[in-house]
Amino acid sequence: MTISTSNHYLITGGAGFIGSHLSEALLDRGDRVTIIDDLSTGRMANIAPLADRYRRDNGFTFAIDTITNAMVMDRLASECDAILHLAAAVGVRLIVENPVHTIETNILGTQAVLRAAARYRKPLLITSTSEVYGKGTRVPFAEDDDRVLGPTTRSRWSYAESKAIDEFLALAYHKAHALPVVIARLFNTVGPRQTGQYGMVVPRFVQQALAGDALTVYADGQQSRCFCNVGDVVRALIGLIDAATGMDTAVDDTDASVKSEKSPIVGEVFNVGATQEITILELARRILSLTNSDPECVRFVPYADAYEPGFEDMQRRVPDTTKIQRALGWQPRIPLDETLKQVITYARGLPNA
Ligand code: UDP
Repeated sequence: MTISTSNHYLITGGAGFIGSHLSEALLDRGDRVTIIDDLSTGRMANIAPLADRYRRDNGFTFAIDTITNAMVMDRLASECDAILHLAAAVGVRLIVENPVHTIETNILGTQAVLRAAARYRKPLLITSTSEVYGKGTRVPFAEDDDRVLGPTTRSRWSYAESKAIDEFLALAYHKAHALPVVIARLFNTVGPRQTGQYGMVVPRFVQQALAGDALTVYADGQQSRCFCNVGDVVRALIGLIDAATGMDTAVDDTDASVKSEKSPIVGEVFNVGATQEITILELARRILSLTNSDPECVRFVPYADAYEPGFEDMQRRVPDTTKIQRALGWQPRIPLDETLKQVITYARGLPNA
């Protein structure tokens, strides 16, 4: 008789961009995965390859439902060993256009997940966002830095606030109910399967370049970001949930020297992101070059036209990743050009490319 040592993970938002890569990585290492996704921004196409490769008998199931369905969440939480919560309303365009949906999905959804996890005391990873730092001007941002948010009349900030409430609530469950929770604050994450439909810049630029359209650079393009490959992000998420469930897996053997003895994981917040910074104009030029397009094929668009009058962006957003590096030895491995090539190859394979 063989005794299975694999874990069973519940992934909310598992049909989304990051969730589908995470599901794939866990299934590939022999774990079982159940996804719950309402397909609002997630897509069946993201998990169809998984459904082909891993059927129910070798560990893959999915429920098309909302995480606010308490009965379903209760059953799924009772059946798994640990939960990774990725379901959320994300994307600046989606947030600006659907503020009620954003706030309700993020706050009520996370509340439902926390209640179910607490009922069965299941280790839980909550994904948050670098948006919670708001328009603070510190470079880089460390987990305990103060947050600087704009006024409530600017709907962009509702996303930051909704995810900050998620963090507060998760940490409160940890304190009040000893729930083993860890929070990953994700900076800009990119890779195949991300859609530009909700505003994300890299898939938008790639799609525009492949269609021969001008790349829509907002404002003067001097704002900068750090783009991390989804594969690196998934490695961090798995390292964090493994540590929270007491498994000691090295996420990066080569960096074991920087991993300190028994760093606390549970009840902690970790930045996850790349530290290589690039301006949006430079990003546009890199994508134009990698797609053999005209290097001048750029159109500058004021923020007010791109989003709404009074829209506020942040000029720079760089993570301090010392904490996760010390705790897990994690650091990103995949350079930006490699990531952009992956996104271009993926986009070329799409039906409308
Ligand atoms: N951006 C842009 N053109 C686009 C979409 C986005 O210039 O078509 C800019 C956007 O204003 C921001 C940066 O690219 O400064 C990253 O935007 P994204 O929405 O991908 O992420 P976030 O704003 O959350 O960092």
